[in-house]
Amino acid sequence: MICQRCLEPVSLPIRSECHYAIVKPDADLQSLPKGYDVLEAGEEPLDLLSLIEEEMLLALPIVPAHDPADCQQPVGVTEPEPCEDEVSRSNPFSVLAQLKRDPNV
Ligand SMILES: [Zn+2]
Repeated sequence: MICQRCLEPVSLPIRSECHYAIVKPDADLQSLPKGYDVLEAGEEPLDLLSLIEEEMLLALPIVPAHDPADCQQPVGVTEPEPCEDEVSRSNPFSVLAQLKRDPNV
């Protein structure tokens, strides 16, 4: 999968839980517990692989992307670093220090 934010490959854990009830063609479906997908066992062997494939596709995220902390944004998209002057002017700690000095603010 390709991260839609940085276009780098991303591997995401997929979690899917499915319950299947394999029944005979003439089984009484009313007696099955709720929440089970019914698979009718006929003459054909069960195609488990395509079944799993289908479940995985359903479990895939619609927009794959890295965890924001892990995402490597391409150069040029990142926010420009504030220059030193700006940092000292808008430093939250200096604002806090001012507040402490003058409680009437
Ligand atoms: Zn990414």
